[in-house]
Amino acid sequence: MTDHLPGAHHPSLNPALEDVRFCPRCGAEAQVRFPRSISCSHCGYGAYYNPKPVACTIPHTDDGKLILLRRGFEPGKGLWTFPGGFVDLGESTEQAARRETMEELRIEVELGPLVGVYSRPEDRVVLVVYAARALGEPQTTPEATEVRAFAPAEVPYEDLAFWSTEAALRDLLA
Ligand SMILES: [Zn+2]
Repeated sequence: MTDHLPGAHHPSLNPALEDVRFCPRCGAEAQVRFPRSISCSHCGYGAYYNPKPVACTIPHTDDGKLILLRRGFEPGKGLWTFPGGFVDLGESTEQAARRETMEELRIEVELGPLVGVYSRPEDRVVLVVYAARALGEPQTTPEATEVRAFAPAEVPYEDLAFWSTEAALRDLLA
């Protein structure tokens, strides 16, 4: 979920369309409706931009603790969240959730039910969060500088990385 640089200004909703004025296919002046679309009446080119799906898991241990990680990168560096990342073209949200969990915590998971879908108009991403059973002992990685299993009453609500982290944890534990 490395999305923008540390210390960057408020991230643009669509950097790919920032300051674009000309058609990428024919070079004529284009109609830009920032942040949503670009179209060209000269050659018929058109492109639409949408929020990007981010697939996540909240892995739990067999004794009911939730495995969270301390983020190694901005945004939210040093704060707690669960594993997740962008869904690539060519994979499902479930595959992306498992892949990202493996990349960040080095564990396989058995996916459980959907915890929820989290989005806001001002965000570029839509989080899709699954419950998951951890099938191994998680490890730290560059993306996860500390890994801990929290009992439900110990979840560090004061030190979570994103609004959606808190919302999904509260939904899971409700
Ligand atoms: Zn064109």
